[in-house]
This record gives sequence, C-alpha cells and structure tokens, in this order.
Amino acid sequence: MTILVIAEHDNKVLAPATLNTVAAAAKIGGDIHVLVAGQGAGAVAEAAAKIAGVSKVLNADNAAYAHQLPENVAPLVAELGKGYSHILAAATSNGKNILPRVAAQLDVDQISEIISVESADTFTRPIYAGNAIATVQSSAAIKVITVRATGFDPVAAEGGSAAVEAVAAAHDAGTSSFVGEELAKSDRPELTAAKIVVSGGRGMQNGDNFKHLYALADKLGAAVGASRAAVDAGFVPNDMQVGQTGKIVAPQLYIAVGISGAIQHLAGMKDSKVIVAINKDEEAPIFQVADYGLVADLFEAIPELSKLV
Ligand SMILES: Cc1cc2nc3c(=O)[nH]c(=O)nc-3n(C[C@H](O)[C@H](O)[C@H](O)COP(=O)(O)OP(=O)(O)OC[C@H]3O[C@@H](n4cnc5c(N)ncnc54)[C@H](O)[C@@H]3O)c2cc1C
Repeated sequence: MTILVIAEHDNKVLAPATLNTVAAAAKIGGDIHVLVAGQGAGAVAEAAAKIAGVSKVLNADNAAYAHQLPENVAPLVAELGKGYSHILAAATSNGKNILPRVAAQLDVDQISEIISVESADTFTRPIYAGNAIATVQSSAAIKVITVRATGFDPVAAEGGSAAVEAVAAAHDAGTSSFVGEELAKSDRPELTAAKIVVSGGRGMQNGDNFKHLYALADKLGAAVGASRAAVDAGFVPNDMQVGQTGKIVAPQLYIAVGISGAIQHLAGMKDSKVIVAINKDEEAPIFQVADYGLVADLFEAIPELSKLV
C-alpha cells in the first residue's frame, strides 16, 4: 500500500494541516508520498521531505499550479494517483476544492472529513453537524479522502529524509485563470492552528467591541474567532467564523464570549480541550459543553480578565 498526501502550502511554507494529514496516512499504514503542486515551491518540497514517516516527495513545479487552481491540480493528482491505494488531503478550502474533482476523474466515491482510521478501508466521519459519527467502509480501488485536521495529532515536522523527485506532468485545463487575492493579514496566530482561541458572538453588540477580545487575545497569544451571528451582522470578517459553515478548531483552550452555543457553532469547537463560556444568560446552551462557565456581563468580565492575565 502506498499513500499519496497532497501538501497544503502557499509556495513558500508548508501548512501545518499537512502534518495532520500525514498522521492520518500513517494510521492507514504503508509508504507515504507527498505531492507538492506549485510553482517555485522548492522550500516546501524540502520541508515535506523532512516530515517524519514520509518516504518520497513529488515536486510538480509548473506555472499551471502556481495558484493551485483545482481545474489544473485535480488532473495531475488523478494521473499520479492511479498508482496509489489512497489519496489524502486536508479538509481545507483547497483540499475540498481539489479532491472531489480527483474522485470524479478516477470514478470513485470520495470519503469526506474523516476523524479516525479504523482500518485501511474503514473510517469515521461526523455527520449532522457532528451530532452523529458515521463509520464508512469503502470498496473503492483508490480511496480518495479528505482529513479533518483536528481529528489527528500532527506527526513531527522533522526527522524524515525523503527523496524529492521532480514531476514533469503539466495540466493546464485552460478553463480558469487566477485574477487576484486579498489575504487578511494578522499578527495573531491562524485560527485553525492556534493553541488558544477567544471567540465573540452576537453579545459583542458591534465590531468595535471586539477590541476587548483582541486585547485579551494579545495577552494570551490567542487567535480571535466569531459566531456566524457576529459575522452576518458585519462585526468581523467571515474568515473568523467558527462552526459548521466556518472553521473547525480544537485548541487547548476555547473561550466563548457572548455566544449562545447553537449546534452549528458547537460543530466547529466542541473538540477543544478546555472550553470556557462567558454569558449573561445562565440557561445558554454553551454552558452544557463548557468546562468552566462564568455567568456575567461580558463587558465587565473581559476587561477584568484582561487585567488578570
Ligand atoms: C445551515 C446553518 C449553518 C450555520 N453555521 C454556523 C456556523 O458555522 N457558526 C455559527 O456560529 N453559527 C452557525 N449558524 C448559526 C447558528 O444557528 C446561530 O444562529 C449562531 O451560532 C448564533 O450566534 P450567537 O451565539 O453569537 O448569537 P445568539 O444566539 O444571539 O447568542 C448571543 C448570546 O450572547 C449573550 N449575551 C448578550 N449580551 C451579553 C453580554 N453583555 N454579556 C454576556 N453575554 C451576552 C446572550 O445571552 C446569548 O446567549 C448556522 C445556522 C445554520 C442554519
């Protein structure tokens, strides 16, 4: 059995989610190869070669893959993937963009967002916003799988010494082109990789009040997230949304501030190691999943907390 893992990267840096995906591959067992599809991503390929447990890195360096347009990367993965038992990618926007196309091109079913590996053909995945866990057994010749990063502890980024092999195949479908991107810049840690997340909900009342959360987060070295209500109300941008239709996080500490605890929000954070809820309504459902709850007005509690940190 040989497994192909699609590296998550921006041509410069290998994203941590790749380490969680390799961890899932290691649970399946067998040889693990990593594909870096990009342009000028040699440093990423070198980093991938150092991942513990990886035996080969395929570096597909071509202008067609510069922005990892799924229309171009999917045929590459489908072509290379024919020689593999499993193809894995992190269930990020990128992975979710590429792998369904790969599955279609290989004429197999995709297995989405696995959170555990039971055996080489059996996996578990959350359904109904995480309220039930499905066990899925696949008879597909090639198993095309997206991996929920929070389900797998990352493998070590160092320790491997895989060979890097250049891949010449160039697929330019010619059906899409890269126009531009606007990336949010922040000195705070990335939401899905942060060890501590402080999230605000509708109870924050407006975007300006998020300054209280930013002040606390900066003292804690935390990322700041939000509920969908806060995002929909325009308090904060939608890349801060945590939940079923936002980002899935599982930090060491999650502090939910002025968030009621709707199941769609819980779907994105309930695997956090320690959950703290601050809400003025003692009946708020968030307290049912919280390890520590504070029934208080957030506008008093958060400044007090910031002073104590
Ligand atoms: C298909 C679908 C997908 C969805 N996806 C998501 C998702 O990804 N993420 C998500 O978050 N939601 C999602 N939702 C929305 C979800 O159902 C809830 O509407 C949303 O999570 C509520 O956000 P909230 O807790 O901030 O707001 P509310 O439910 O309005 O809660 C606000 C809370 O703030 C408290 N509060 C108010 N003032 C204060 C104060 N001064 N001090 C302390 N506490 C205070 C209140 O007591 C209340 O509990 C989805 C819904 C659907 C239908």
